Amino acid sequence: MPLFDYRCRACGHTFEALVRNDIQPDACEQCHAKDLERLPSAVAVTSKEKLQAAADSKRHKAAAIGRQETMAEQREIEHHRKEDH
Ligand SMILES: [Zn+2]
Repeated sequence: MPLFDYRCRACGHTFEALVRNDIQPDACEQCHAKDLERLPSAVAVTSKEKLQAAADSKRHKAAAIGRQETMAEQREIEHHRKEDH
């Protein structure tokens, strides 16, 4: 559900509003003026979500590349650990 930041041009009050089915708040929740401005912060949220999704898919891809690599890596780590002691 998209969450947008709005700023009232009349009183400067900023608030977050859920936009469902394209129904946007039409009045400031504080002074009820209908001069609202949608703030671009929602874009930042969206790109953050995209980054998160990209990180998730990268993690999934790494897991899909194969356990063999991971196991070889772990064996190497074990090996180094033994050498250290
Ligand atoms: Zn207001």
